[in-house]
Amino acid sequence: MAVIIDGKKVATSLLENLKLKVQQSEKKPGLAVILANNDASSKIYVSNKEKQSLALGFKSSVYIFDKSTTQGQLIKLIHELNENEQINGILVQLPLFDHLDANQIIELINPKKDVDGFHPINVGKLNCGLKPYATCCTPKGIIKLLKAYNIELEGKNAVVIGRSNIVGKPTATLLTNENATVTLAHSKTKDLKSITKNADIIISATGSPKLIKADMVKKGAVVVDVGIVRQFDKSLVGDVDFEKVKKIASYITPVPGGVGPMTIACLMENTWELFLEQNKNNAKF
Ligand code: NAD
Repeated sequence: MAVIIDGKKVATSLLENLKLKVQQSEKKPGLAVILANNDASSKIYVSNKEKQSLALGFKSSVYIFDKSTTQGQLIKLIHELNENEQINGILVQLPLFDHLDANQIIELINPKKDVDGFHPINVGKLNCGLKPYATCCTPKGIIKLLKAYNIELEGKNAVVIGRSNIVGKPTATLLTNENATVTLAHSKTKDLKSITKNADIIISATGSPKLIKADMVKKGAVVVDVGIVRQFDKSLVGDVDFEKVKKIASYITPVPGGVGPMTIACLMENTWELFLEQNKNNAKF
């Protein structure tokens, strides 16, 4: 039976450490979050990010836009936030309303304030094995979770399922940077089972409930479930058939309580790290 990886516990410990550092700092980090869509989940995510920021003693500003918002208004706000010394991290909650161009908005964020690590400069640094100003939160959280449980990555066969810019691709890059041998699978991959069966580490980020069945998993593999889908009864399910796969895996993350809490903890850590970087010549904080 697999060890259940407790993402909540690891995230809480990270946040407690962070809170102590913030308390000892005279100046406080500032996080700006922009919401420009009507998606119910996005609203919950933004509200959770604000609550967590305030709980840590950060300054939090949330900017909510309705459907009449223009690209020009968002561009103007990004320019203002880039110049605002009280703001260290800028987060644009994706997706945006369909008529808005998210790529253009993200490229306008100062990479030193790009708390999600989505700016092409930060993505490029990650791909070059250099330290980005901020690393995408979910992939960073996954690696931290594996390391918290002393799970060896070097030389392991890892498969990442899902190739989004915010989860799949950067997770594959981080694993490569950790010297794993990585396969990046996606919806057009043929015979997924033959790939997952050979994997020491399976990271699934598709949003396809119970995609990963017990017969797709090698005995003793480590299984990380990034997927979150809200069902009709409001319960959350992941990509992995948890009850059956946990009998075969050596370690497994639950949904909820696995990767999710790490994502928000890493967002807070990124805000703190950007704050330190922006204030490194200021002896007062
Ligand atoms: P996305 O829709 O942008 O990408 C999904 C990827 O999965 C695509 O690359 C697609 O090719 C692949 N895919 C879909 N169905 C597949 C299948 N049957 N077989 C193989 N590949 C398949 O999604 P995303 O933004 O990367 O998010 C993925 C999931 O992770 C979603 O459920 C999302 O809610 C969740 N998520 C969780 C967290 C967290 O903190 N836990 C953070 C971000 C996203």
